[in-house]
Amino acid sequence: MTLVMKFGGTSVGSVPALRQTAELIQQAQQTWGQVVVVASAMGTKPVKVTDLLLTGAKRALAGDSHTFLDVAEQLRRAHYELIDGLLEPEGERQAALAENDQFIDRFVALCQAVLVLGELTPRALDAISGMGEQMSVRVLAAYLRQLGLPAQAVDATELIRTDAAFQSATPMMAETIRLTQARLGPALAAGDLPVVTGFIGATAAGVMTTLGRGGSDFSAAILGQALPAKEVWIWTDVDGVMSADPRLVPAARTIPELTNREVSELAYYGAKVLHPKTIRPVVENGIPLRIKNTFNPHHAGTVIVADKPDGSGQIKAVTAIPDLSLVTVEGKGMLGVPGIAARTFSAVARSQANVLLITQASSEQSICFSVPEAATAAVISSLEAEFAHELQRRDIDRIWAQQPVGIVTVVGAGMRGTPGIAGKIFSALGAHDINVIAIAQGSSECSVSLVVTAADTAAAVQHLHELINAT
Ligand code: ADP
Ligand code: ASP
Ligand code: MG
Repeated sequence: MTLVMKFGGTSVGSVPALRQTAELIQQAQQTWGQVVVVASAMGTKPVKVTDLLLTGAKRALAGDSHTFLDVAEQLRRAHYELIDGLLEPEGERQAALAENDQFIDRFVALCQAVLVLGELTPRALDAISGMGEQMSVRVLAAYLRQLGLPAQAVDATELIRTDAAFQSATPMMAETIRLTQARLGPALAAGDLPVVTGFIGATAAGVMTTLGRGGSDFSAAILGQALPAKEVWIWTDVDGVMSADPRLVPAARTIPELTNREVSELAYYGAKVLHPKTIRPVVENGIPLRIKNTFNPHHAGTVIVADKPDGSGQIKAVTAIPDLSLVTVEGKGMLGVPGIAARTFSAVARSQANVLLITQASSEQSICFSVPEAATAAVISSLEAEFAHELQRRDIDRIWAQQPVGIVTVVGAGMRGTPGIAGKIFSALGAHDINVIAIAQGSSECSVSLVVTAADTAAAVQHLHELINAT
């Protein structure tokens, strides 16, 4: 029986955390026999290795020749601290320090190239940002070996084959299954303990890609499907998926069981605890997914189960995505004209922006949708080019954006078919003078999303969370 266990940034972010992580791995190996570990880059708050790597590279692109050197020192110190604190001098300490130095030297060399060339391609960004995982798995594997476990660090470039969409690559599953089974199958059969990098993969040509920020959860699910594993466990720093982000709502509680659809909506609409793409590979293959707390391992956490009828009428969770803008295309001449929506979203797609929510007034006089705030200018100019003719003829009066806004989403499969939920949501917000700018309901009726100003986002989450006990 194979278990895939993924450890997030905080679980590998300090000496005590790594000791705890190693203990969990040791126990799992005794119970399960075959364990595949997936690890993120070190992510001690507030310093996250992946953020540091990206900052260094981006500053180099801006002509800054100092920041990436400072970052390199910070990275060196952070990893040294772990290596020094965990590895015996007479064991692998020196080798681990030297290996880690090689990565940092490579980071510096890549940033120097970015600085000189004045160019930072998505491909280079992936080569740089994926290094955090390459460093962390080597330290973790060395420490596990010191404890007597047969651990070996494995770069997922050997296992996860992706397309070449750098920064948000998509796995090609047939090839990934073949590679994973060929590489990990014999290793597991021989009793080895693979410690695999999260977040990264490689193209057919062997070029490193990344799966998108927070993508180590996805890596674990991909490997879970590919092996296949009996279960996939995501170890993080909170007691599973909670009814809201505990940083925003201190009263948030763990949700013991969530359906596939509920957790998908939650993850998509901002619950950072799980990368939204994690769910499909496991749930579609009947592999149970659990989210547990490394620092409170006896807590059962959350289990994700298949969709099932729920007549509870309950709201289960509230989540939010900040830093968005709401773009509106409006004009009386749009009424009944076929193809406006299609042209709108084709134009948005050309600007590469990700649309998070769409609403259309029934009069068809406007289409509203939200995109990341940073993409607003590109989206508007793409739309203006697409509709130059209609704007000139005044069929479209205005293309404009309201920003910054946030999307607040209320999730619960039990809301389906329950009258009055929308009324409760609006009353709760109205009672606190929070204006709802736009609303959209998921077609599964398991979520309702509201657009509010950025300034109102946190309060909206808090007040809607109060409905959880009340519904
Ligand atoms: P990891 O490095 O383990 O992947 P992340 O920082 O990516 O950890 O995700 C865990 C964090 O997600 C938690 O510390 C918590 O602040 C945040 N979070 C946001 N929404 C939720 C939620 N609904 N339930 C639990 N945690 C949440
Ligand atoms: N280290 C990567 C990130 O910070 C992936 C992850 O943590 O899941 O985005
Ligand atoms: Mg994460």
